[in-house]
Amino acid sequence: MPLTLRVCALYPDLMNIYADRGNLIVLERRCAWRGIGFQLSSSGLGEPLDGGAHDLFYIGGGQDRDQRLCAEDLIETKREGLHAAAARKAVVLGVCGGYQLLGHSYTLDQEEIPGVGLLDVRTVREQGPRLIGNVAIEVSLAEHATEVLAGFENHGGRTYLGAGQQPLGQVLSGRGNDGRSGFEGAIAQNTIGTYLHGPLLPKNAWFADWLIARALGLQADALAPLDDAIERRTHLGARRAAGG
Ligand code: GLN
Repeated sequence: MPLTLRVCALYPDLMNIYADRGNLIVLERRCAWRGIGFQLSSSGLGEPLDGGAHDLFYIGGGQDRDQRLCAEDLIETKREGLHAAAARKAVVLGVCGGYQLLGHSYTLDQEEIPGVGLLDVRTVREQGPRLIGNVAIEVSLAEHATEVLAGFENHGGRTYLGAGQQPLGQVLSGRGNDGRSGFEGAIAQNTIGTYLHGPLLPKNAWFADWLIARALGLQADALAPLDDAIERRTHLGARRAAGG
């Protein structure tokens, strides 16, 4: 049986700032180059979500107003499916606004936008400037040597981790979850949230491969190596931009 990566993009029209959709193209290309099939589906407002039908669920970043629309829908039509998917170890990846929605809540003044609670994080829009700029973090993932993720962040929300919640990485340069803790993102089994745009995966091809392997239930080194000369230069350029 040939392998196929089945990806579901949540709200691809509304949650897609900083070209976050580029992450999907990277997943598609890196599968195709290896002869791995790729199926892309989407689930937008009002559409149900079958948590058993996909290997990787993806939600990109969004403006507050779009996030509000999606949050309500996410709870109503997709929460159960996403929890079922995460429980059977499908990969769930949220970037920026998508990350915030994977947590418990995003609070703006008196308003609390609920999240699906897959990650034990809470986000609060506080006084103070938006956290903007190039960012590099150090991550230690299962079955992988310690590596760097580089990208660009732009968020008004500050995200706080619950007591037992593991961050995705430690900030090397940039602001991260809240500008103070030194943590960036969050990870719980195969559910991952991060503030890194760029988009994330074109700048960090190694991480795209880690996600593909996890989503397909393969060891990280089971994927055929690719000629990543350009991808490595792109990655190093993003790290340099972040000052590292
Ligand atoms: N609206 C959120 C915030 O400003 C997320 C922004 C984003 O996705 N870049 O915190």
